[in-house]
Amino acid sequence: MSDNWQRGLLAPSSDDLATCVACGLCLPHCPTFRLTGRETASPRGRISAMRAVEEGNGTVDDSFRTMMDECLACRACEAACPSGVPFGRMIEGARAQAEPGRPVAQRTTRRLGLSWALSRPRVVRTLGLGATVASAAGVQRALPSALGALMPPGRVRDALRPLPAASGTGEPAALLSGCVMDVAYRPVHRATIRLLTSNGYAVSPTRPGGCCGALAAHYGQPEAAKRMARARIAEVGDAEVVVVNAAGCSGHMKTYGELLADDPEWAPAARRVSARVQDLLEMDLDVPARHLGPVAVHDACHHLHAQGIEPRPLLRAGGAEPVELGDGGHCCGAAGLYGLLQPDQARQLRRAKSEAIADAGAPVVAVANPGCAMQIEAGLAEIGASVRVAHPAELVS
Ligand code: SF4
Ligand code: SF4
Repeated sequence: MSDNWQRGLLAPSSDDLATCVACGLCLPHCPTFRLTGRETASPRGRISAMRAVEEGNGTVDDSFRTMMDECLACRACEAACPSGVPFGRMIEGARAQAEPGRPVAQRTTRRLGLSWALSRPRVVRTLGLGATVASAAGVQRALPSALGALMPPGRVRDALRPLPAASGTGEPAALLSGCVMDVAYRPVHRATIRLLTSNGYAVSPTRPGGCCGALAAHYGQPEAAKRMARARIAEVGDAEVVVVNAAGCSGHMKTYGELLADDPEWAPAARRVSARVQDLLEMDLDVPARHLGPVAVHDACHHLHAQGIEPRPLLRAGGAEPVELGDGGHCCGAAGLYGLLQPDQARQLRRAKSEAIADAGAPVVAVANPGCAMQIEAGLAEIGASVRVAHPAELVS
């Protein structure tokens, strides 16, 4: 596994590529294939291009890069594939492979944002608070819609109020602060702390603004992803439980052991932390019984497809009546930086998801990933739907 994974970071491994039998059963599940109808925007087409490069029959050129860039990395294909194709790590490998040939300006910008800035919690916090001020000044209307929703003025106070360094007594639990969740959704952290302390945990958040490295891994920056993984591993120390309340982050942190498998100094700690990571939604928690009424449910891709986790049990335990969306559970189009890098497709997916949520008729939608929450808030505002977006922890705590 470790050999495959290491090779997979620089390019998809031949073993992984060989698992695809080109049956096409994944195609109806792929949001970009459904939008475009193009084989080149399908899982099978992407794997075929990866395989052509691996076998020396294709090159990593602009068309290869576009095929990989248009992918949401939502992993719906992986969940649907009967052959067990590990598409998540294959697309990460293909993007790392495609990175060196990008134009210099693009490469520099990506390295600056995904490697330099995200590796520095203080920079993350400063940029986030800068977005807050810009938003409060009305500048957000000039930003792409998902980014503009990052910091509505009402979040200024939340973003500035620090989390307690330690809360509660009992079993030690580290809580990932993260980057976007920490800057934009601190009330979710407060709700998470309430839930955990009432369930007998002593909670210590990791460093404010400290990214888990998922974005770097998804966008072709494996060395930066490893750097961030080491920093978070050092912060969680010996905590028996590492709680993560964002779908993309929990999914990624569970792969720390594989990510650092070839690093003799960090591999044991990385494996230990991966094994201790628990997404908040998969924990067995007691929650106050009350009547919350109908709550529409959005399944984050990195919960549903990557981890097989869903929010309904926690919502039901808290007295909510989950309301299903009629859109087949497709990706909302947030997908990390997709809204910035592929704005047209992201807009179409955002609109479809927002309309499905509005059609569900519930006054609130449960969303357990900060990127999805930003995207859906922006989409609901675009179509004029007054549905509140809330993390399940906020609803049941
Ligand atoms: S990824 Fe899986 S479902 Fe899709 S074509 Fe390949 S083998 Fe078939
Ligand atoms: S990860 Fe999502 S967008 Fe990419 S090929 Fe698979 S289903 Fe399609």
